[in-house]
Amino acid sequence: MDNVRVRIAPSPTGYLHVGTAHTALFNWLFAKHNKGKFILRIEDTDIARSSKEYEENIIEGLKWLGLYWDEGPYYQTQRLDLYKKYAEELLKKELAYYCYCTPEELEERRKEALAQKKPPRYDRKCLYLSDEERAKYEREGRKPAIRLLIPEGKTIFNDIIRGEIEFNNQDIGDFVIMKSDGVPTYNFAVVIDDYTMGITHVIRGEDHISNTPKQLFIYNAFGWTPPEFAHLPLLLGPDRSKLSKRHGVTSVTEYKRMGYLPQALVNYLALLGWTPEENKEIYTIEELIELFDLRKVTKNPGIFDITKLEWINTQHIRRLSIKELADLTLPFLKEAEWFREENFNLEYYYKVLGLLQERLKTLSQIREYADYFFFDNLEYDKDTVKKVCKHPDTYFYLEKIKDEWNKLDEFTATNLETSLKTLAEQNQIPTKNLVHPIRVALTNKTIGPGLYEIAEVLGKEKTLKRLENFISFLKQI
Ligand code: GLU
Repeated sequence: MDNVRVRIAPSPTGYLHVGTAHTALFNWLFAKHNKGKFILRIEDTDIARSSKEYEENIIEGLKWLGLYWDEGPYYQTQRLDLYKKYAEELLKKELAYYCYCTPEELEERRKEALAQKKPPRYDRKCLYLSDEERAKYEREGRKPAIRLLIPEGKTIFNDIIRGEIEFNNQDIGDFVIMKSDGVPTYNFAVVIDDYTMGITHVIRGEDHISNTPKQLFIYNAFGWTPPEFAHLPLLLGPDRSKLSKRHGVTSVTEYKRMGYLPQALVNYLALLGWTPEENKEIYTIEELIELFDLRKVTKNPGIFDITKLEWINTQHIRRLSIKELADLTLPFLKEAEWFREENFNLEYYYKVLGLLQERLKTLSQIREYADYFFFDNLEYDKDTVKKVCKHPDTYFYLEKIKDEWNKLDEFTATNLETSLKTLAEQNQIPTKNLVHPIRVALTNKTIGPGLYEIAEVLGKEKTLKRLENFISFLKQI
C-alpha cells in the first residue's frame, strides 16, 4: 500500500483514555507497517469542554507509549476560516442552506413529530424560506446555522473490518455543518480536515459508524473521493459495558504512574481486537509493526482485563536488563519515605534488583518489595514471629546458625545454604524450622526471593545484626 496517511484525532475533553490509545496504536501500527504517515490532530472545537491540561496529558501519553506522530499537532480552532470557506462553497452550490431555527423551536417541532409518530429529523422549514421571512429573521438578529441538504436514497460503504454497511438517508435528515457561532460541527470539520490532510484511511472506534454516512454526504457534496473506513471494536469492561472509570483506571498516564511499562501497555492494547498469526502473547513493538494487519482485526469487542495487562507487564519487566530496570524503578524507589539518597549505592541496587526482577508486576512495587534492603530497624510483629517460631528451641538454633555464619569467610548463598543444612542435619531438625524464622529476621516478611541470596546481598554484617536483633525480640515475647 502506497502513501498511507492516517490520523488520531482526540478531543482534549479528558485525559488520554486507553480507548483512544487503542485507536491511536492501531493507526500508528498501520502507518508503520505500510511506511506511511501518522498525523495528530487536536479536535478542540468544543471550547467549553476542551482544556490545555487535557491536551498536554494526551500528548504526554502518546509520547510515553512511543506513538510519535509524523505531522501535527494540527488544531481545529486554528482552521476555522478554512471550514467557513468550504461551507460557503456548499451554500453557493445550493447543497447547503442557512437555518434560522432556534434550539427551542427545533425541540418543540421534534416533540410534535414524535407525537404524530413521524421521524424526528429536521423538517426543512428553512429550506423553503421566502426572502421576506429570511429578512425578518435577520432583522431579529438571528444568526443562522448552515445545514447540509441530504439527498434521497441509501448510503452504502465498505468497512475494512465490518464489510458492507448500509444506511437509509431518510433516517439522517439535513444536519448542521456550521453552527450559528461560526464553529463547524464535528462531522464537517473532520471531513474538511481528513480531505485537506490527505488522509487515506480513517481508522476509529465503532462508536463513529453512525457518523460515517454523514461524512460521506459531505465528500459527495464536494465531489471528493472519500478515504477508506475501518471501525475498530470498542473496549469493554469485564461486565461487557463500555469501559469506564468504574471498571478501574482508564487514563494512560495513570498506568505510567502505577509503574506499567509502555511496551507492555502497547503489547496488551494491540491484542485487543487483533490476534497475530503467531501463537504467543508477548511481542516487541517491532514485531507488532511487522505483523500488523488491519483486515485481521475482529468485530468482537475487546474486554479490558487488568489482570492480563499485569501479567504482560511482568513479562516485559523480566525482559529488561538490570540497568534498564534500575533506571526505570529508581524514580519509584525515591518516593519511598525510607529512601536516603546519601545511603544509596547503585552496585548494591543492581544486586537487589537481580533478586526482585522476577517478582515485580509493576515498577512501583519496588517500594514494597525492596524496603528491607534499605533500612535496618525492622519492626517485627509479635504474631508473625510467634507463628514462624513455633518450635521452643528456635532461638537456640538461631544463635547457633549465627555463629556458623559468622565463621564463614565467604558470605555466599551457597556457603550459607550448606552451613544451614549441615546444622539442621546434625541436630535432626527440619530446615524449614530455621529458614522461616530467618526470613522474618532478615526481611520482616514471610515470602520473598531465595533466603540465602537475600543474606548474600545484605552481607555478613547486616545479616548477623538482624539475626541478633531478632533473637532478642524472640526472647522478650
Ligand atoms: N474527535 C473524535 C473523537 O475523539 C475523532 C473521531 C474520528 O476519528 O473521526 O472521538
